[in-house]
Amino acid sequence: MKLARAGIFFGGAFAGVALGCAPPAPGAPAADSTVTVAAELDALSRGVTRGHEATFLSILDDTLSADAYHCLPSPRRVFSADAPDGERRIAGVMPHYGFFFGPMSYLLRHRAGRWEVDVRIAVELPTEGDVMELPDCAIPRELEGDRGDIAEVGATCAGTPYSASPSLSACPGSGTFSIVGTRGAQLALLRRWSREAASYWNRDAAAFGLPVRYRFTFEPSAAVPPGFADLRVPLALTCGRTPYFSAFRSGWSLPIVAHEVGHVLGLLDEYETFSGLSPCYPKTPFPGAEVSRMGLSMREGTLVLPLHHYLVLRRYFCEEPPAGPYEGGL
Ligand SMILES: [Zn+2]
Repeated sequence: MKLARAGIFFGGAFAGVALGCAPPAPGAPAADSTVTVAAELDALSRGVTRGHEATFLSILDDTLSADAYHCLPSPRRVFSADAPDGERRIAGVMPHYGFFFGPMSYLLRHRAGRWEVDVRIAVELPTEGDVMELPDCAIPRELEGDRGDIAEVGATCAGTPYSASPSLSACPGSGTFSIVGTRGAQLALLRRWSREAASYWNRDAAAFGLPVRYRFTFEPSAAVPPGFADLRVPLALTCGRTPYFSAFRSGWSLPIVAHEVGHVLGLLDEYETFSGLSPCYPKTPFPGAEVSRMGLSMREGTLVLPLHHYLVLRRYFCEEPPAGPYEGGL
C-alpha cells in the first residue's frame, strides 16, 4: 500500500534519493530492507500495530524516502546499548504532505548505553495584556497561588478540558479557558510545556522498553542566543490548526504540543492530508494509526511507537547529508 500524497509542489523533489544510494558510513550497520525493519519494529510494538502492518510499513517507507539522512540500521542495533557514545546535531527539512518543507532540528546523544534527545524551542512572546486562550485550567490554578481564586489572575475556566473532549478536533471548543497574558502567565505556559510535553515521549519509550529519554525546552526567544534554537516561533494566543513552524499556540493541549514537537524531530503526520479541517471532513488517520501520537494528536492515550523512536534515533548512524536549503540552529 502506498499512502496518498498530493505532491503538488515538491512531490518529485526527492525522487533521486533512494535508500542505499550512499555508501554506509564507516562503522555503520549493514543496510536492511524496510520490510525486515518494519517487522522488527512491529515485534517491539507489543501488539499495538498488529493487523495494520502494511500501514506502518508505508509510513516507514514514506518517511525514509523523504529523508536526506538515508541509512537503514536494524532497530536491534539502534536500540542496543552498543551504539558508539557521542553527540550529533540532526538538522534539515522534511516535506509535509508533499506541499511544504518543515524544519527538523534536534540533538542526539548516546552515552552509557542510553539515548538522550534534546529539542530547544525559542518562543517569541507577544506584548503583555492580551487574553490568552488555554486548553484547560492548569495555568490559572498554578498562578492563583494562595489567593485561591482564578478570577484574581484574570482567568476563566469552564467546561471540559480540550484533551478530555471526545472530539477529533485539535481545538474542540469543549470549554472556555483563558487568562490575561501577563509575562508571568506566558512564562508559566512555557514552563508547563517544558515540564510536560516530553513526558508523553518518555512514558511511551519506557512502556516499550526503549532506552531513550527526551527533553523539550521552551524558552523566551530573547533568552536564546542566535544559533542555539532548534526552532524559533511566535506564541499565538488562540487555538488553531496551523503548521508547527508558523507558531506554537497557547490553546494547544499538551498532547498536541507533544505531537508538534514530533515534527521538529522530523516525523510526518499519519492522517489524510486535508482531513480534520472542517467538521464535515473529520480527522482520518491512516488505518491503524488511530493509536499513534502522529495519527491522532489530540488524544492523551495515543502512543509514540517504536517506529517513531527508531526514525528519530536512526539518523545518528547515517552519513551527513549534503547541505540543504535549511541549516538549522535558528
Ligand atoms: Zn501534525
